[in-house]
Amino acid sequence: MREIIHLSCTGCKRKNYSTTKNKKKHTEKLEVKKFCPFCKTHVLHKEGK
Ligand SMILES: [Zn+2]
Repeated sequence: MREIIHLSCTGCKRKNYSTTKNKKKHTEKLEVKKFCPFCKTHVLHKEGK
């Protein structure tokens, strides 16, 4: 039951990363600090649709 989710940069709103998560186990929105090649720095990426 793992679903693909996309992580969007909170700076430029681009979807830079995709990952999978179990939506039944983790109902909260995923937030990860990752490198954004467009902002050229580490930015918090949030789960989008
Ligand atoms: Zn960005």
